[in-house]
Amino acid sequence: MSKGPNELFKAKDMNYARFINALSASRRDSPIRTLTDIMLSSPPSVISLAGGVPNPDTFPFKSARITLSDGTEIDIGSALMKRALQYSATSGVPELIVWLKDLQKKLHNPPTMAYSPDKGKMEICVTTGSQEGLSKVFEMLVSPGDNVLLDAPTYAGTIAALKPLGCNLIGVPTDKHGMIPQALKDILSKWRPEDAATPDKKNPKFLYTIPNGCNPTGATLTTERKIEIYQLAQEYDLIIIEDDPYYFLQFNKDRAPSFLSMDIDGRVIRADSMSKTLSSGLRIGYLSGPKPLIDRIFVHMQASTLHTSTFSQILILELLNKWGVEGFMEHIEGVIKFYRTQRDAMLASADKWLTGLAEWHSPSAGMFLWIKIKDVADTYKMIMQKAVSKEILLVPGSAFNLDSAVSSSYVRASFSLSSPEQMDEGLKRLASIIIEERNA
Ligand code: PMP
Repeated sequence: MSKGPNELFKAKDMNYARFINALSASRRDSPIRTLTDIMLSSPPSVISLAGGVPNPDTFPFKSARITLSDGTEIDIGSALMKRALQYSATSGVPELIVWLKDLQKKLHNPPTMAYSPDKGKMEICVTTGSQEGLSKVFEMLVSPGDNVLLDAPTYAGTIAALKPLGCNLIGVPTDKHGMIPQALKDILSKWRPEDAATPDKKNPKFLYTIPNGCNPTGATLTTERKIEIYQLAQEYDLIIIEDDPYYFLQFNKDRAPSFLSMDIDGRVIRADSMSKTLSSGLRIGYLSGPKPLIDRIFVHMQASTLHTSTFSQILILELLNKWGVEGFMEHIEGVIKFYRTQRDAMLASADKWLTGLAEWHSPSAGMFLWIKIKDVADTYKMIMQKAVSKEILLVPGSAFNLDSAVSSSYVRASFSLSSPEQMDEGLKRLASIIIEERNA
């Protein structure tokens, strides 16, 4: 962007109360949890007889020494270990939050970081993977019967989190550059922007999108499209939920500006994840969004997970402190290089085996190739029966349809785990299955 977000968009006032559903609005801060948060961050001079926290001296773990891939070590001594094994603040380990805020500032420079809390100052919440954050965001916003806008097709985990909430999922068509703004505009034209605050009119309250290396399509939104989508969100007063776990897996040199970086109003909730870069099993994700909304997530967490694993957070914090931002970004460069090479290997095998049988585009981020099989209207049986029996596992496209009963001519192939030789053999087997299917 040559212009900064302040010049591109005219800021609009937000009324956060209208987005929060009755269930979320009825949640109350737990005084015990608040006291525990104060106690856990107090200096040793404070005598606490308040918290129902266990005494870590009784725990069987003493310390840990973890060897990194480069041979260096992270040493979690006994004092830090006691902290890592203890309850911690609901929002996240304070030093990790400081780290993540600095990172968001450096990568996205969100306009909302400078705002006052009421105006929607950016707040961060560490979650058990981005999946926990996303499902809590949906549970905060959706009331039964709401209309919800999202990429079609989209991540199966999002469909699974949204469907039981009783909302009406409205798929916005996408192509290799992600959500198509004109299609969004056509869908939104069913409603009048001035009716956004009138619940009976059922204007959608939010839009969910995966901007980089979309799961499953591999699509990446262009900056131009993001600007158009943000402007439509302003016109129709929509929250944008930016689910971006593949942000750090962008293969091109310049990372695209995020919705968070354009967020002049405080209408973006961004979900980030450490799952694709540091560890998926440690379950560390983080939400960045306007304080009045993120505060509702804290209150929900007080009644559910209490907080994300302290041990996981301390381990990630120690790693980030050891590396610094530069070291972290260097690590990211290595991860990108790996996935770019994997993608190129899969593309070469697709060219070799699938030319004439299927179509695909080269993803500029993420870990997925979205393959459209020619002359096969529904890939479900072909993938779930024939492919499984030939020992090649892929995901049929219908798994990502908002209505899984609707057929799909696509399959999703992941280039994350298999070697180039395995990918080559896998796509060779897929080609023979397609030929059999077409001749059947
Ligand atoms: N969003 C998308 C688009 C994903 O692909 C995934 C993981 N497959 C998630 C969210 C959840 O990731 P995690 O909970 O591991 O951060």
